[in-house]
Amino acid sequence: MYSLANQWGVGVSSAVIAVDGPVASGKTTVGRLLAQRLIYKFLDTGAMYRAITWAALEAGVSPKDGSRLVRLAQEQRMGVVFQQDGQAAVLVDGRDVAAYLREERVEQSVSLVSQVSGVRDILVELQRRLAEEGSIVMAGRDIGTVVLPNAPLKVFLIASVAERARRRHAERQASGHSVSYQDVMEDIAKRDKLDSERKVAPLRPATDAYVMDTDGLSIEMVVGRILEQVRQRQWA
Ligand code: C5P
Repeated sequence: MYSLANQWGVGVSSAVIAVDGPVASGKTTVGRLLAQRLIYKFLDTGAMYRAITWAALEAGVSPKDGSRLVRLAQEQRMGVVFQQDGQAAVLVDGRDVAAYLREERVEQSVSLVSQVSGVRDILVELQRRLAEEGSIVMAGRDIGTVVLPNAPLKVFLIASVAERARRRHAERQASGHSVSYQDVMEDIAKRDKLDSERKVAPLRPATDAYVMDTDGLSIEMVVGRILEQVRQRQWA
């Protein structure tokens, strides 16, 4: 078992798995399935950054206005509740905002909002609190490096831009959005650049991460390999 006590003084033993990676690398799909297999909770932290972005756009706050974004993140009560199946619902002022998180305007602005360190501080604190009870898979960009650096298993998923664009394009089409493959690919390349080059918590694998290239692998294969890593660590 893994103890968070030393680092955050919360004294709770936990089994936590960090799943990081770039946009459309499969973190959410893989993380969700992994959590189901282990009967863990699942938190997609990208949804939290999207929720703040949505709230800012609704309130007319520019995604470039750092100090107003921080004030908004403090004022809007952000919350996360876990449903019986372990899936998380992100709440803004008590309202489940899932329906708005994939809006194009959110897609366009979220990487700007997530560069603001004051916003990150607020969300990271909430994420750590949510991890305190353990038995959780947390997906994001900085879970293994910043949020839960002592997690006993840190997975970092990679895949080529072309493969990620193919997956995201298929997803968008399936959900009724008409968007070209080229546009999806450009958007992914732009987000990769913003997420990896930002000063605060840039996207990169932790030095002790289990890095997996998922090109050509099915979701089942990816999850199977991660479960093998869990077994090797003998906590599940
Ligand atoms: O994973 P998803 O694409 O939903 O994340 C949306 C954006 O939120 C990312 O492009 C990144 O800018 C930001 N993010 C982050 N740190 C996380 C999760 C997401 O900066 N832990």
